[in-house]
Amino acid sequence: IPGLMQTTPLLISGVLTYAAQAHGSREIVSRLIDEPLWRYDYAGLARRAAQAAHALHRLGVAPGDRITSLAWNTHRHLELFYAVPGIGAVLHTANPRLSDEQIAYTIDHAGSRVLVFERNFLPLVERIAPQLASVTTFVMLSDETRTDPGEVGAISYERLIASEPEAIDWPSFDENAGAFLCYTSGTTGDPKGVLYSHRAVVLHAMAGGLNSAFGFTAFDVAMPCSSLYHATAWGVPFSAPICGAKLVLPADRMDGASLHELIESEGVTFTGGVPTIWTMYLDWLEKNHAAPGTLKRVVIGGSAVPRAMAETFKRRYGVQVLQIWGMTETCPIGVVATPTPALAALGEKAMDEAIWTRQGRLQFGIELKVETEDGGDAPWDGQTSGALKVRGPWVVRRYFRKDHDATDDGGWFDTGDIATLDANGFMRITDRQKDVIKSGGEWISSIDLENVAVGCPGVKIAAVVGVPHPKWEERPLLVIEPHEGAAVTKAAVLAYLAPRIVKWWTPDDVVFAPVPLTATGKIDKKVLRAAWRGHLGG
Ligand code: ADP
Repeated sequence: IPGLMQTTPLLISGVLTYAAQAHGSREIVSRLIDEPLWRYDYAGLARRAAQAAHALHRLGVAPGDRITSLAWNTHRHLELFYAVPGIGAVLHTANPRLSDEQIAYTIDHAGSRVLVFERNFLPLVERIAPQLASVTTFVMLSDETRTDPGEVGAISYERLIASEPEAIDWPSFDENAGAFLCYTSGTTGDPKGVLYSHRAVVLHAMAGGLNSAFGFTAFDVAMPCSSLYHATAWGVPFSAPICGAKLVLPADRMDGASLHELIESEGVTFTGGVPTIWTMYLDWLEKNHAAPGTLKRVVIGGSAVPRAMAETFKRRYGVQVLQIWGMTETCPIGVVATPTPALAALGEKAMDEAIWTRQGRLQFGIELKVETEDGGDAPWDGQTSGALKVRGPWVVRRYFRKDHDATDDGGWFDTGDIATLDANGFMRITDRQKDVIKSGGEWISSIDLENVAVGCPGVKIAAVVGVPHPKWEERPLLVIEPHEGAAVTKAAVLAYLAPRIVKWWTPDDVVFAPVPLTATGKIDKKVLRAAWRGHLGG
């Protein structure tokens, strides 16, 4: 028989309304591009998000419409995180690190009507504007005096919202409606769109705040250092207000000195981001004989957390590292490495060891399984590895504009990672099925690079593998087997690649060697990765 409780939809606007009522005076502090530090609170966020929502209505934005942001971790971007889904539209958080073509592709694929961007993206926006057929309005996230309309006739965000009412009746609609559109670059080809629903975002945010994950309290001061366009920065823009944590937004300044300044001045207790940021931060602390002040917990993921990083944070500075594993397709929380009584009973050293060598533990709301090659479920023994599959209310079902589901018949999504699960519910990534390289938290497609490199005169086989790197976690190495008698040089290959790829995809080295092949004639990446592991000093 049906339950007799209310069926209030789980909407993102509900998070904002709650935060304004329950934690209205809790602060939000934001760095900006060339503007002074901005300071307000959740009540202020609710007022300005309402103004932005009215302004969007005035521009003709209707439920279901898409709006693209090209923006950093700033309070204006945060306002769009609430205003756009609040009126039933969808915020496409574009990734500015992609190539011009890919950024234009994602905006066009999203079919966005409005493009909202930070001032320092004007040259990029001017370059790609001719390819953006659906965009009718360009808005610069800037005050009026600093707004440069450029060739696209951009209007100032501050001007746009200034005279709008500071209150709004957020509409109610189906909690399964789309809220955010995040594109993820796969192994090859065009980026794929993952369309988060309100329900997924709210449930994910509630889970993110739990003690098994980020463990927020109203006394926390959270500073998300993963770019807000990455899987909506791990749900922190929603889980922090749900828990009443103060929010500190560092814009695009993720260098050690800038982060340290905010940690000190704002009393940051919780932060998070990809390993590369924390490598730089720990370096900075050491060089400057500084300590991370009030910081208590740092959540790190996107790539495996080096054991030494977790150890330094804890032993030298008393900061707990919470490794997270997740994907754009999982909103992104999959597992988070937090202690349990069973592990604590082993003693501190053994517990640390267990936690530092695993990606994290299962969270309520997301199911995991490891499938062995014969299609069976691997036992949770910490030994048997296989394809990691996930299922749950914040896992993708189908990519945007595709006509078939991305899940199997049982509703499981194959992550492309290889993993083990153990008796304590901890997951460990042991390998990757997908042929990609993750550098500083951003994807490089080895296959796309190989396809370009093989066009270079004299090249017979081009193979690209990710090699451990001390700063970027992984960097591409290009291994070339030339045609017999051909004289190919590293300089010639790099010169050939330069106009054809984004600069940060440039391989860190080009080496000439026979390329090993598998029994089926494919490049044997496993053998190559093992052979060149130490090549870049990582
Ligand atoms: P995000 O934007 O959150 O980094 P992506 O979808 O770009 O998400 O990348 C997800 C992939 O990154 C995972 O499938 C996995 O291969 C890798 N990854 C994420 N976190 C970790 C981790 N803690 N350890 C190892 N690999 C990780």
